[in-house]
Amino acid sequence: MNGTDVYLVTGGAGFIGSAVIRKLVEQTNVSVVNLDKLTYAGNLDSLASVSDSPRYAFEQADICDAEAARSIFAEYQPTAVLHLAAESHVDRSIDSPLGFVQANLVGTFTLLEETRRYWNRLGEAGRKAFRFVHVSTDEVFGSLGETGYFSEETPYRPNSPYSATKAGSDHLVRAWHHTYGLPTIISNCSNNYGPYQFPEKLIPLVLLNALAAKALPVYGTGDNVRDWLYVDDHADALLTMLRDGEPGESYAVGGSNEVTNLEVVRRICTLVDELVPDGRGSSRTELIEFVEDRPGHDQRYAIDPSKIRNELGWCPSESFDTGLRKTVEWYLANPLWCERVRSGAYRGERLGLAATGGGK
Ligand code: NAD
Repeated sequence: MNGTDVYLVTGGAGFIGSAVIRKLVEQTNVSVVNLDKLTYAGNLDSLASVSDSPRYAFEQADICDAEAARSIFAEYQPTAVLHLAAESHVDRSIDSPLGFVQANLVGTFTLLEETRRYWNRLGEAGRKAFRFVHVSTDEVFGSLGETGYFSEETPYRPNSPYSATKAGSDHLVRAWHHTYGLPTIISNCSNNYGPYQFPEKLIPLVLLNALAAKALPVYGTGDNVRDWLYVDDHADALLTMLRDGEPGESYAVGGSNEVTNLEVVRRICTLVDELVPDGRGSSRTELIEFVEDRPGHDQRYAIDPSKIRNELGWCPSESFDTGLRKTVEWYLANPLWCERVRSGAYRGERLGLAATGGGK
């Protein structure tokens, strides 16, 4: 490791964490330590392009393991922490909430405590320059009706076990700043999409099913609205916050791309029809199947990103159309990655119906 700045990235083998690490190694001089437990969602294949770099190191560890975290801090002496490790899938949180409490709450608490212990021993300049960026979600704010936007001022009203544990972790981070002075920053970001996303999430699931001529499940009537952000734009936002953000502040991050779930599925079908015609002249939209809605499904999420745009000068570079095309092209060019992640614990089963007695 020879970069002056050393960032400890937790959850770096996941979808967003790997995008952050690829960007750091390929586009900056920062050295990166990736702390990841490698759950079903973690995949080192996503880091193949940077894993040989002398500025990259991997440590397989659980953020709930204080001793492991302590020795990683001692060995690498990071100048910042980017905390992404979490259980992240809402449907899984409905079936098995305990793992979410453990990873997202106990894990964040443990990491905060180990960060604080390390940070307290730094010299004054090191303490001042240090940052702990906590990567959270807009889902902590609950659900919107047809109008309005989430911002940094929106009260917390989490509705799912996932968002409740993320909300709790945000509160811990906030308290560690106010009580102990740890220089923390919180990001509350909308739905991400892009290359290397685990194929249980909507966009890769629909895309891979469309290619395999399998049913395309749409929850309820498909009218739930999400604000989509291309993953590399999110990675940019996180690094901007780390560099220029104000400790103690939070930033709402979104792509200003509000689309209903049904429209997302239709646009994927249109792209797949264009890039891989099925030979019979029919459209993949014929594969759409409306299935039982997710229990407690939030209706609409939308972000007002004025603060990060105006104060830090960040703005996304992809529209939903350009980002979705890039995403579809990436999955088409990387069937091996898809095959390898799909052969793991995930078997493409329907998750998240435990509350209604359906599902597995
Ligand atoms: P992901 O599920 O793809 O990756 C999570 C990573 O964390 C995996 O590599 C996994 O192995 C690791 N991990 C899980 N538990 C761990 C533990 N106890 N110790 C160490 N590592 C552990 O998730 P993602 O989509 O990349 O999301 C990353 C972060 O961003 C999460 O905190 C999530 O809440 C947040 N977020 C995600 C989105 C989104 O749309 N995906 C939007 C906003 C915020």
